[in-house]
Amino acid sequence: MGSFSVALSIASLFFLVIIFIVFSSKENIKSVQLKIFSRMLILTIIGLTIDIIGYFSFHILGIDNVINQFISRLYIVFYFLWGLGFTYYIILISFNLDYGNKIAKISKIIGWLVGLIIFCLPIKIYSDETSIFTYGLSVNINYICSLIFIIIMLYCLIKNLKQIIKKEYIPLLVYIGLGTVFIIVQHINPKLTLMLFFQSIIIFIMYHTIENPDLKHIRELNLAKEQAEKANKAKTDFLSNMSHEIRTPLNAIVGFSECLVDRNDLNEETKGFAKDIVEASNNLLEIVNGILDISKIEANKMEIIPKEYNPREVFNSLCKLVIPRIGEKPIEFKYTYSEDLPGVLKGDVAKLKQIVLNLLTNAAKYTDEGEINFNINCINRMDTKTSLLYISVKDTGRGIKKEDIDKLFNKFERIDEDRNTTIEGTGLGLAITKSLTEMMGGRVNVFSKYGEGSTFRIYLEQEIVSMEIPESKTEEIEIDYSAFEGKKILVVDDSKINLKVAENILKPYKFDIVSVTSGMEALEEAQKQTFDLILMDIMMPKMNGIEALNKLKEIPGFDVPVIALTADAIEGTDEKYKSAGFDEYLSKPIDRYLLNKVLTKFLK
Ligand code: ADP
Repeated sequence: MGSFSVALSIASLFFLVIIFIVFSSKENIKSVQLKIFSRMLILTIIGLTIDIIGYFSFHILGIDNVINQFISRLYIVFYFLWGLGFTYYIILISFNLDYGNKIAKISKIIGWLVGLIIFCLPIKIYSDETSIFTYGLSVNINYICSLIFIIIMLYCLIKNLKQIIKKEYIPLLVYIGLGTVFIIVQHINPKLTLMLFFQSIIIFIMYHTIENPDLKHIRELNLAKEQAEKANKAKTDFLSNMSHEIRTPLNAIVGFSECLVDRNDLNEETKGFAKDIVEASNNLLEIVNGILDISKIEANKMEIIPKEYNPREVFNSLCKLVIPRIGEKPIEFKYTYSEDLPGVLKGDVAKLKQIVLNLLTNAAKYTDEGEINFNINCINRMDTKTSLLYISVKDTGRGIKKEDIDKLFNKFERIDEDRNTTIEGTGLGLAITKSLTEMMGGRVNVFSKYGEGSTFRIYLEQEIVSMEIPESKTEEIEIDYSAFEGKKILVVDDSKINLKVAENILKPYKFDIVSVTSGMEALEEAQKQTFDLILMDIMMPKMNGIEALNKLKEIPGFDVPVIALTADAIEGTDEKYKSAGFDEYLSKPIDRYLLNKVLTKFLK
């Protein structure tokens, strides 16, 4: 071994010791790759030390000395172990193996066994003036092992050819490239032993390419993420509680102003004010519902509740809702659906209604004149019993700028703000539409030309229940109050103002109304007399509506229909209250039309 080679080894040792100090002083994550790297780093430091000690000891003690024999054997074993470690590293990064798996354990045992054999096998040392070589069976076995390692590494590389640019593969690529150069150099000048220098370079490259994130930063990031999540949850909870709280006073506002609209002893101007209050309250209610929806979507609390429905009826009812929104504007509303639209479909019809209504209301809001085309097409697949609905809402409104299209579905984002100032909205509608559609496995897309109009399309798959169109139930719009005269109704609500609202809404029916402010009082009343119907608030102190209902059901022979009354407008509430034992559920503010439907169902 020449003095140039040993100088290189000393320099490499110095360099690797520095890397070792830097590597050990930093807190590292416990990854398999890093474990292997640290072992290979230590192994190379040991190899370099053996190499340097060997150089001096051969010069001082001569080749026949036992110590030098021992050093030469250690040297051969070092090469074997280094090759094994590097191959193992390449296998790990190629196949993402677990460090503790069986293959790792077996190869560890084989490695040490072969290492021991190599150490014990005969070895011969040759030396001349400037260099020392080892040969014999031990060295030959080592060569065979190295060949096997190279074949395994090449196999790993070929198997993962697509990921060759992965930075973890750089040491292997350098190993192949630089290894070839070093073999050629060694061939030209056999006295120059560069192997350890070459291995040190590989270790140095490994140090820079191995995945070694800074633990301190990871911890800080995790902490920041946790705090952001907490803050987001607090915001969601706040929005949801606030919306819930707003619904209760809103119930009183809508209830009383509707009563004013119906009064005959008021002048037209007062009635007009009352109508405006109703309209403004309904807008407020829509906003609150939107906030409730988005907070539920964010908290992953939105569930899909499939129900059977008649799509013709559903889409017709949506048209009825949107036409008043168009108002006096010179807009022609066109509604068409394909002839082969199935008679009965199954899906989350409440969400479907909400999605389509959002698009229709937007078209009505953002179009001043021209046309709104509401069209439903479908592709029915009888083998899978599914119908793919294509619902499109096309308008000749203001349109959307190209650069705004991406922002369209972001929550709280309203575009074209300066033109929007006169149109109320929160920027939540389309965000909700997109989330709900995707939750049901569908897609929304939009085409728009600024100044000419927009087309929103929904693609949604629904289950086909029947192709037959069921007889449509024409719903009574005209309320016949006289049919209910004298029926006995018990209204339970802890809020006096809400009781007053309910009494006022029920007044035209000429019921015999008993109002109580707690579940306990309700129980007492129900035991004293028989009612035809009970309207029960849910959120009450001491005994809530559900507990009161359970107690009522314990009364022998009790079979009065009980309707839940709640400010809880959450999806699935229907199921929630029905499974709790209520016969129906009405959300506050009480919708007169729905109330009449329920009263008709249970009292007529
Ligand atoms: P909002 O209507 O409450 O503002 P949306 O999420 O429903 O919120 O809509 C976001 C924005 O997209 C609206 O502010 C409006 O500028 C634009 N937009 C939505 N629908 C249309 C449409 N049909 N034509 C033109 N602009 C639209």
